Amino acid sequence: MVSSTTTFSVPTRRKNEMIDITGSVRDIVRRHGIKSGICTVFVPHTTAAVTINENADPDVPRDILVALERIVPREGDYAHSEGNSPAHVKALLTGSSVTVTVEAGKIQLGTWQGIFFCEFDGPRNRQVRVTVLGESAASS
Ligand code: ZN
Repeated sequence: MVSSTTTFSVPTRRKNEMIDITGSVRDIVRRHGIKSGICTVFVPHTTAAVTINENADPDVPRDILVALERIVPREGDYAHSEGNSPAHVKALLTGSSVTVTVEAGKIQLGTWQGIFFCEFDGPRNRQVRVTVLGESAASS
């Protein structure tokens, strides 16, 4: 049984941004060589998030960010003294973790799916934690 967590950094450049981290997650999972299991991607932040969506057309993450901006306006009845309540609400809507199944050492994403780190209060240096859990190919 393999159970291992790897942390990597994601430097963000904009206030709101979706960054495709599929390649980094794929590499971490591949290094563990598990036959089958699961992989979770967790973001330990309250104004950033992680999600799975289309990574073929860059207009999709662009449109998602525009829609989130409409749903959660920058100005509003916010009391939080830090002034970044819209970012907290966007993170709430998007979520702080995703789980993907792993087969034959590979994460099983759909054809059009990618894993995105979502920044809502950048730019900052962020962390992503990838936990790989499963049966190793060597032990079977
Ligand atoms: Zn805050």
